[in-house]
Amino acid sequence: MAIRIGIVGLGKIARDQHVPVITASPDFTLAAVASRSGGLPDLPYHHDIAAMLADGDAIDAVALCQPPQARYEAARAAILAGKHVFLEKPPGATLSEVKTLADLARDHGVSLFASWHSRYASGVAAAKDWIAGRVIRSVSVAWKEDVRVWHPGQAWIWEPGGLGVFDPGINALSIVTHILPRPFFLLDGTLSFPANRGAPIAADLTFRDETGVPITAAFDWRQTGPQTWDIRVETDDGALVLSKGGSVLTIAGMVQETAPEAEYRGLYDRFAALVARRESDVDVSPLRHVADAYLRSARVVVAAFED
Ligand code: NAP
Repeated sequence: MAIRIGIVGLGKIARDQHVPVITASPDFTLAAVASRSGGLPDLPYHHDIAAMLADGDAIDAVALCQPPQARYEAARAAILAGKHVFLEKPPGATLSEVKTLADLARDHGVSLFASWHSRYASGVAAAKDWIAGRVIRSVSVAWKEDVRVWHPGQAWIWEPGGLGVFDPGINALSIVTHILPRPFFLLDGTLSFPANRGAPIAADLTFRDETGVPITAAFDWRQTGPQTWDIRVETDDGALVLSKGGSVLTIAGMVQETAPEAEYRGLYDRFAALVARRESDVDVSPLRHVADAYLRSARVVVAAFED
C-alpha cells in the first residue's frame, strides 16, 4: 500500500520537486499539505503541522520542506505522532537537535531520513566508484552562484540557522563526504559576513584527510555571469571533475555518459525503502563540516548585502 505523505512548508523546493516527484511515485500518495500561506487544489489543507497531525490517521509520513530553523519542532511533533519523517537538507539548525530527533525516531519505531539531494545527482555514483580505485592527490571545490538569482527574498537564509552561503555549499559537502574514501577535517577557514546579515556570503575552507590529502572549498554567493558548481579530484590516474552540481562527470578530459537528472526520485525511492524496513538514515557529516567552519574559521565583515 502506498505511503500517505503530507508536505509541510509549501515553498520553492516543495513545489518544484516534492509535489511532482511524490505524485509520480508508485510508493507514495500525496495526502495533505500544511503551509501557512495556502495549499494545493483538491488536497486536504492545514495551516500548520499541528493541525495536520490532529487530523488522526490521514497520513503515514511527512516531508518537512520549511527552512532549517523550523525543522526540529515539526519533526519532533511528527515522530511523537508515529509518523515517518523526511527532512529536507540541512536536517536541522544544529547537530544536537538532529541527534535528539534520531534518538526519538529510534525510540518510537519510525523512520527518519536526513536527505541530501545532491548525492543523487547523475554523475555522483560513478564518480565515487572511479575514485575508490585511485590514489587521490588533492581535491578542490568551487561552489559560486548569484544569491539574487537563486534565493530572492528568502529572509530566513540570512538569519542565524539559515546557513547563508552554506545553504548551497552544504550540497557540495554532501557530495564530497559521499565520494571520498576517507573522512576529512577542517584546518582553517575564512567566513565573510555582510555587515547587515547573520550568515556568511562567502567561505574559504582548507581541509585535510587523515593521510594528508589537501581539500579546499570556496563558496561564494557574489558570483554573477556563469555559475560554478564544480568538484575537482586530482588522482594518479588523471583528474575527475563533477560539474553542474554533480550532474556532469568528466574523467581525464572525457565527458562521461550519465542518466537523466532524478535527484528527488532517488531520495523518495530511498525513503520508501527505509520506511519499509522501519530504518533511519541520518548522516550529519555535511552539517558537521559547516559547524566546524563556524567553530574554526576567521570572520571578516564585508559590504552590506541588500536583496
Ligand atoms: P522557501 O521557498 O522559502 O519555502 C519554505 C517554506 O516553508 C515557506 O514557503 C513557508 O511556507 C514555510 N515556512 C515555515 N516556517 C518558516 C519560516 N520560519 N520562515 C520562512 N518560511 C517558513 O524555501 P525553499 O527554497 O523551498 O527551501 C526550503 C528548504 O529546502 C531549505 O532547507 C533549503 O535548503 C531546502 N532546499 C531548497 C532548494 C531550492 O532549490 N530552493 C533545493 C534543495 C533543498 P508558509 O509560509 O506557507 O508556511
